[in-house]
Amino acid sequence: MTRILHRTIGSRLPEAVAGQGIYITDSDGKSYIDGSGGAAVSCLGHGHVEVLDAMRAQMDRIAYAHTSFFTTDVAESLAERLAALAPEGLDHVYLVSGGSEAVEAALKMARQYFVEIGQPQRRHIIARRQSYHGNTIGALATGGNAWRRAQFQPILPKTHHVSPCYAYRDQQADETPEAYAARLADELEAKILELGPDEVIAFVAEPVVGATLGAVGPVADYFARIRRICDKYGVLLILDEVMCGMGRTGTLFACEQDGIVPDLVTIAKGLGGGYQPIGAVLLSDRIYRAFAEGSGLFQHGHTYIGHPIAAAAANKVVEILAQPGMMEDVRDRGERLQAGLDAALGQSPHVGDIRGRGLFRGIEIVADKETKAPFDPSRRVHSRIKREAMARGLLCYPMGGTIDGVHGDHVLLAPPYIIRPEEIDLLVERLAAAI
Ligand code: PMP
Repeated sequence: MTRILHRTIGSRLPEAVAGQGIYITDSDGKSYIDGSGGAAVSCLGHGHVEVLDAMRAQMDRIAYAHTSFFTTDVAESLAERLAALAPEGLDHVYLVSGGSEAVEAALKMARQYFVEIGQPQRRHIIARRQSYHGNTIGALATGGNAWRRAQFQPILPKTHHVSPCYAYRDQQADETPEAYAARLADELEAKILELGPDEVIAFVAEPVVGATLGAVGPVADYFARIRRICDKYGVLLILDEVMCGMGRTGTLFACEQDGIVPDLVTIAKGLGGGYQPIGAVLLSDRIYRAFAEGSGLFQHGHTYIGHPIAAAAANKVVEILAQPGMMEDVRDRGERLQAGLDAALGQSPHVGDIRGRGLFRGIEIVADKETKAPFDPSRRVHSRIKREAMARGLLCYPMGGTIDGVHGDHVLLAPPYIIRPEEIDLLVERLAAAI
């Protein structure tokens, strides 16, 4: 019998047959709160009538036109909308079909930028340890996860990694947030100097780390210092907002809260809201002009970039996200979620930290709260929490394992922004019971 190759080979997964609002129903009729929006994807929930209508309308017009022959009004208007809403200076948009593709495109754009401006010697990418930037070859090489990379290492390009900003584990007891941020910026500067300051292309980081650490945001001043170091050496700053972007943290772009503008930013997941696979790279005018005034060709491209139905869905999603009050709702509901988690789990001997921004919250599970020692990896605590939560009708995104030598178990919450206050309370109740 032919079977789908599931991620975990041979796993028996329930069959999703319906989705409405924050709920997914399986073929046994069991209903689950989509507490993680899949993997921080379903920002508007399931079955959103306006998004479905926008897709249907586009399907009735034209479903596909290759971008070497045509552009479409939906793709153009999506790009215009994104650029208008993005931090000042990110004026141009390159459409792709997902997160890894967005990261790949950003890396190639950064490299080609230096070729265009006559600095072809720049060849190094620096990212952070314990990070995830996607599963394609370039994105995998960029991610700082030795376990994920291990068996593919011989075919991966060389990349370089520095420490993530992970205050819960790395900030010293006698260290102020400012001193911690300065230490990390010094580490990046030392890495740039070690590689050769005019040989580095870009530094890549997630503003709020999702999949690998569980909603870990930076300490104040971290990104301002990082921005200054990048500027000092002409290194491009690429922010990966594939997971934390599109309003997830309470502002459309997470980096708005850090008061900096990157040279390139990647988005995906919430951009299509789960209705269509789509991603994008937003780029600065400086980079755009280097291409326009240089070769006039970005040497890249995929068959489905700017797909009309995907663009129509994303256009509607972004239009809804930009409506007045939407981001305030995400922030308010995020506060309620944090307060609920604090009340229900704050005293648990195995909950080390509860953190995040907006409707992007992470819980770090520890064996010992005092020492922050994790559970033995063989106990696979994060997987057991996922299983227990599913049994109770809740989907949460578990992460764990040993990443770059550091072991941890986390649970990530990223519910749709339409979640109602009483549903937040129910989510917390189910999660607490599962933990
Ligand atoms: N970057 C980040 C920060 C991500 O969280 C992810 C997906 N978890 C990706 C890139 C890759 O996105 P995709 O799975 O859509 O290729």
